[in-house]
Amino acid sequence: MRLWAVVEHDKPLECLTLPDPEPMGTEVVLAVTHCGVCRSDLNLWKGEYDLGGGQTMRVADRGVEFPRAPGHEVVGTVVAVGPDAEGVRIGDSRVVYPFIGCGRCDRCRAGEENLCDQQTILGIMRHGGFSSQVVVPDPRYLFDYGSVEPAFAATLACAGTTAFSAISKLYPLDHDRPVLLIGAGGVGSTALRMLHALGHRRIIVVDLSPGKRAAALAAGATHALDGADPAIVEAVKEAAGGPLLAAIDVVNHPSTAGMALEALSKGGKLVLVGVGRGALEVSLVSMILKPRSIIGSVTGSLGDLRDVIALAQTGRLKPLPMVTMHWDEANAAMERLRDGSVDGRIVIET
Ligand SMILES: [Zn+2]
Ligand SMILES: [Zn+2]
Repeated sequence: MRLWAVVEHDKPLECLTLPDPEPMGTEVVLAVTHCGVCRSDLNLWKGEYDLGGGQTMRVADRGVEFPRAPGHEVVGTVVAVGPDAEGVRIGDSRVVYPFIGCGRCDRCRAGEENLCDQQTILGIMRHGGFSSQVVVPDPRYLFDYGSVEPAFAATLACAGTTAFSAISKLYPLDHDRPVLLIGAGGVGSTALRMLHALGHRRIIVVDLSPGKRAAALAAGATHALDGADPAIVEAVKEAAGGPLLAAIDVVNHPSTAGMALEALSKGGKLVLVGVGRGALEVSLVSMILKPRSIIGSVTGSLGDLRDVIALAQTGRLKPLPMVTMHWDEANAAMERLRDGSVDGRIVIET
């Protein structure tokens, strides 16, 4: 197999050749046909996360070894199955659940492999969709996406599942209650479309980019506000008709999370999704006098991916704009994402 791999941080990906994998036990091998490019792929490439307060976490501390092919939004065709793999046949086209857990702990047994402490995530701890073939440990990570366009189906594995999981944490929430959504990039615009598909009628988007704000309005946002406005908290409250009960921050910087927290009413929930940067100082007294919840959300469960695919199959969940590039343009795809010059999701195709 060939793989576009990170060999050294911040250096161009290199095209390497390795022997084709031989599946053992319940393993399944897929030939990659589509792979979405996500901001987490850039983090892998960059090699560290800014934790705030001058602290950083290195990707290597998450058990990542190089060379590594990134890519965790994968659709592929089954090309080999292990002797104990059931329910999947050669030639099947499937979307892959990438947040692979240990399969043995309480969280994994509950289907929440995204919360497992011993994950081996596709494209981070094992080769992902920037490799021409991926190995999954078990057919339960493979989902039939039916009539959904395969490039769109690929984005459901991370952007879709992550957005769905974040929105779920706002519930119970009446569909007429306004929802603040900060960030209209890949996951953000997926969340916007998903809120819409789930019946939410008042969605206030905040983004710095005029282009992304215009796209958000076209995709069903009721308001699209400029995050650089010094009076953004007031502008959000005015758009919402008062303080809000629900906010999702896909950017997750101190300024955006702080703004969202200020815009919330008593009992409001702020769900943090994006791997942003920095730290937030929170007045503990204010968290009592004006009680609110800050909820971290990382990707989604196997059930979330199943539900998102079902939602896409109804046709109510609209795809975000797709920019397709050839799989061999992996470096150019990463650079375009890093430069922020893309509205929507880049999907590389073989
Ligand atoms: Zn991702
Ligand atoms: Zn586990």
